Amino acid sequence: MGKPVLAIVGRPNVGKSTVFNRLIGHRLSIVEDTPGVTRDRIYASSDWTGVDYDVIDTGGIELTDEPLLTQVREQAEIAIDEADVILFMVNGKEGITAADQAVAEKLYRSGKPVLLAVNKMDNPEMRADIFDYYSVGFGEPYPISGSHGSGLGDLLDAVVEAFGQVTEDAALDPETIRFSLIGRPNVGKSSIVNVLLGEERAIVSNIPGTTRDATDTSFVKDKHHYAIIDTAGMRKRGKVYEKTEKYSVLRAQRAIERSDVCIVVINGEEGIIEQDKKIAGYAHQAGRAVIIAVNKWDVVAKDERTMQTFTKNVRAHFPFLAYAPVVFVSALTNKRMHTLFPAIRQAAENHAMRVQTNVLNDVIADAVAINPPPTDKGRRLKVLYATQVAVKPPAFVIFVNDPELMHFSYQRYLENKIREAFDFTGTPINIYPRMRK
Ligand code: GDP
Ligand code: GDP
Repeated sequence: MGKPVLAIVGRPNVGKSTVFNRLIGHRLSIVEDTPGVTRDRIYASSDWTGVDYDVIDTGGIELTDEPLLTQVREQAEIAIDEADVILFMVNGKEGITAADQAVAEKLYRSGKPVLLAVNKMDNPEMRADIFDYYSVGFGEPYPISGSHGSGLGDLLDAVVEAFGQVTEDAALDPETIRFSLIGRPNVGKSSIVNVLLGEERAIVSNIPGTTRDATDTSFVKDKHHYAIIDTAGMRKRGKVYEKTEKYSVLRAQRAIERSDVCIVVINGEEGIIEQDKKIAGYAHQAGRAVIIAVNKWDVVAKDERTMQTFTKNVRAHFPFLAYAPVVFVSALTNKRMHTLFPAIRQAAENHAMRVQTNVLNDVIADAVAINPPPTDKGRRLKVLYATQVAVKPPAFVIFVNDPELMHFSYQRYLENKIREAFDFTGTPINIYPRMRK
């Protein structure tokens, strides 16, 4: 559980985002390397020689208003906090500058494996200078060219080798429900965690093992085992970058990766903004169970319809999360906080649910009988047989005469019928039409 993470650090313009885009390039449908464009994507998955890993472009977490040296130092700290292996990038056309030195000093003390990449070594003659970079103190320097893609293979071999030295997450009991609180800064994520853990004071323990495990907290409540993912990260306070939106997205993505259930926290006082949708969208796309928690409910002026109205508002903003239960809580007054655990448990159970094949096929047959598929250019979809092929989230293969004839609206109709028959509250489900063999 938990893929290794590589973070790229270095001062502006050394070529971090160029290299980042190259590393993830083969996974991207749209190439986003227009120079000068704000970088949207700073965290992505990739793989090298069969090893899956995540990569962070720390340069994308911009701390506007901060002096350059502060920025690069904070970005180095993010890399140290988030990554298993750090790729420190410098510009081979300019040599080592004061800002590079500032990054290096942070990294010396990190205790994490650091690889030095000397970028913009566009032609082989330039490689003669590579030996100068041994003096930076991170061992063998890797000459690369982000523009041409050269040197990246050797570098990635070294990265993968460094990952090998990173210990695995300690295996958690598969019964443990792993959940996280995600959302933009200041919605109350850490306050909620404090309340949840406050209640469980007696039985809280940090999961022993590697440093990364120590960021989670496991406990038992009503005989169910839970782990809150990234408790340490949420409780930590005071660094400049922690309240930036980019960093909150990064943390959310990291937490989603390791969770069964994601609680998307919304600020009930401020309402829903674009950033909330983005974060919720990541959890949905990753196939996690999702709960929407509207926090700070204490400050909302209420009458008997407020909750209903707000729920409607949530539904309108998150049409892709129609399955997610909405809970209203206040971490400040503790009101309705007791509604969270039942929602988490239900979502986790449904996320892992397997349905009986014969019951599933009865449901599908009834659905088709009530509302037969429409014809398309004289041809009609024939639904033959359905079977559940996966859990977390539940996935169903529906065998048909021709998958091309399965229209989006009919697939949604079948999904709705499956949802009516089985309780999949809290979890996305996937449906894959397949040609009968
Ligand atoms: P970042 O600020 O560190 O992320 O740097 P960028 O990736 O935005 O790159 C800064 C500039 O350097 C851009 O104009 C890139 O096109 C250019 N650049 C990046 N990699 C290379 C390289 O390998 N060779 C050369 N000549 N230019 C590069
Ligand atoms: P995070 O950045 O999402 O972890 O948010 P915090 O937990 O740090 O909370 C941000 C601010 O909102 C703090 O000042 C909290 O005291 C406040 N806050 C958190 N939950 C509530 C709540 O339920 N009601 C009110 N009124 N304030 C809250």
